[in-house]
Amino acid sequence: MTVRRGVSELAPELDIVVIGAGPSGLAVAITLEKLGLDVTVLEAGGLRPRASGMAIDAVPEGRHAEPEIAICEGLGGTSWWWGGRCVPPDPMDFREWPIPETELAQWYEAAAEFLGCGPARFEAEGPEGFSALERWARVREMGLVWRAHLERSERIAVCLEARVTALNMNGNLAEINVSGRILRAGTVVVATGGLASVALLAGLDGVSPALGKYYAGHVFGSVADVVLDDPDFAEVADFFLDGGTWVRRRFALPQNSHVDERILNVVFWVDNAAFHDWRHGSAILSAVYLALSVSAVGRLLVSEAIRRRHVGAGGNAGRHVRNVLRDPVGLCRDAARIVRQRYVERPRRPGFLIRNGAGRYRLTFHGAQATRADNRVSVEDGRLKVAYDFSRDEAASIVRAHEVLDERLRTAGLGRLEWHAEPEERVETVLAQLGDGFHQQGVTRMGDDAADAVVDGGCRLFGHERIFVAGPGVLPTSGQANPTFAGCALAIRLAHHIAGIHAAA
Ligand SMILES: Cc1cc2nc3c(=O)[nH]c(=O)nc-3n(C[C@H](O)[C@H](O)[C@H](O)COP(=O)(O)OP(=O)(O)OC[C@H]3O[C@@H](n4cnc5c(N)ncnc54)[C@H](O)[C@@H]3O)c2cc1C
Repeated sequence: MTVRRGVSELAPELDIVVIGAGPSGLAVAITLEKLGLDVTVLEAGGLRPRASGMAIDAVPEGRHAEPEIAICEGLGGTSWWWGGRCVPPDPMDFREWPIPETELAQWYEAAAEFLGCGPARFEAEGPEGFSALERWARVREMGLVWRAHLERSERIAVCLEARVTALNMNGNLAEINVSGRILRAGTVVVATGGLASVALLAGLDGVSPALGKYYAGHVFGSVADVVLDDPDFAEVADFFLDGGTWVRRRFALPQNSHVDERILNVVFWVDNAAFHDWRHGSAILSAVYLALSVSAVGRLLVSEAIRRRHVGAGGNAGRHVRNVLRDPVGLCRDAARIVRQRYVERPRRPGFLIRNGAGRYRLTFHGAQATRADNRVSVEDGRLKVAYDFSRDEAASIVRAHEVLDERLRTAGLGRLEWHAEPEERVETVLAQLGDGFHQQGVTRMGDDAADAVVDGGCRLFGHERIFVAGPGVLPTSGQANPTFAGCALAIRLAHHIAGIHAAA
C-alpha cells in the first residue's frame, strides 16, 4: 500500500516529486508510472474530501467564490466537487498559446481515458452549430477512480496530509518543506490548483513577474429562454450516452463570427428553468429546489457551490410547495426516474431535462473571460489577494452572441430566443450574474516570453530548469471550455516530456 505513507518514511532525496493529488497531479504521476518512472506525490489532504482552509481577500466583493466551496483537498483534489464536464479548447483559443492545437490534441485520447469520459469525441451529428459535444466523466471523483490503482502501484508513493509550505532551490535540487521535513528533489511538478500554486511559487526566487496575473475563469449564466419550433427537438438537446458516457450537445457559433462580430468564445445549452424560480410551475423542479434548500440534504446531493447556485436567494417555499401539490402523480413519476438515473444506474446521469409541450427552456451560456493583467492573484503579508472582475465589454459580448444565435436559430427554423430583460437592461443583467473562482486559469500562464508568462510551452517554470507546473493555471486563454480536460492533456504531455529528460540523462 503506497497511499497514506507518512512523509517521515520518505528518503531525504527523491527523484520526481508531484505536489498535489488533484486530477492534474494524478495525471502526471500515473503517466510517469506508465513510462517506468518512480514518483512521490505530496498531498495536503487525506483520503476523504475536505474544504480548503485557504484565506483570500477578494475585490470587488461577490465576483470570486470563497475557497471553502471552490477548492477541495484530498486524494483527487477538487474532482470531489466538480461537475465532471470534459471539453477541449477550440481552434480559436490557440491564437494566444505557445503551442498549436495539434500539439495538444494528440493527448486528448489519453486525457479522456484518465478522466473516464469515453472516447475523445467532441462532435456528433446534428444541425449546423449544434453538433459540439460536452462529455462527462463516468465517475467524477478521481480519488475513488484511482485509489485502488495507487494502492497497488509499486512506482507511485502518495503521502497524504503532507502540505508543502515552501519550495526553494539549493544548487541543482529543489528543497521542499513539508510536515516539518525538508525533502530534496531533482524534478518537481507543482499541481496544487491555480490559487495554491501562486501561494507556493510566490516564495521562490526568480519566478516571472507574470505570476498571478491574467487570472481568467468563465462567464456563465442565463438571460434568455430558447423556444423550440418543434418541441420534440428537446430530444436532440438532451443528455445521451455515447461510448459508454453521458454527453450533451452545445450550441456553438461559427469560429469566424467570434472574430467578425468581436464576440468572446461562448457556447449555449438547453436547460431547465431555474429551480428557485417558482414561476416555472413544475412539481419536480420545485421538489428539487425544496430538497436542495435544506442545506444538510442538499449537500448530500450536490457540491455546495452547485447547491447554492440552484437555490439562489431562496425563499418562496410556499409557492414551491403549491407547485409540488399541483401534480403529485407527475412528481412521483419524474422523481422515480431521476433517482434511478442519478443514483442507481451507472454511469450516473449528470443531469436531467424536464420536457414541456411548449418547447420553452432556459438557455445557459458559458464563455471565455477576457485575458486581463489586472485580474490577478498576489501574496501580501502571507495572505492571497485576489483582484477579479468582469467588464461591461464582456457582458456586451455575451448579449451580442445571443443576438447572433437568435438569428441563426430563426434562419435554421429551429426556434428563437426570448429575453429575460428589456434591450437596455441586458448588458447589466449579464454583468450582475458573472462570477467564478472555480475555474482557476491563467495565473501560471504558459507563453513564449518570461515577461508575460510563468511557464514555457513545455510547462517548465521560466528561470528554473527542473520545476514544472501542471493544471488549468497554465492555460493562457479561458475559451468556452471547462478547463480540466485541457489541464489533464497538458499534464500527460508534461509527464512524457519529463520522462524524455530522464531518458536523456
Ligand atoms: C463546483 C465546481 C464545479 C466544477 N466543474 C467543473 C467541470 O464540470 N469541468 C471542469 O473542467 N472543471 C470543473 N471544475 C474545476 C475543476 O475542479 C478543476 O479545474 C480541477 O479540479 C483542477 O485540477 P487540479 O488537479 O489542477 O487542482 P485541484 O483539483 O484543486 O487539486 C489540487 C490538489 O493539490 C493539493 N494541494 C494544494 N496545495 C498544496 C500544498 N501546498 N501541498 C500539498 N498539496 C497541496 C490540494 O489539496 C488538492 O488536492 C469545477 C470546480 C468546482 C469547484
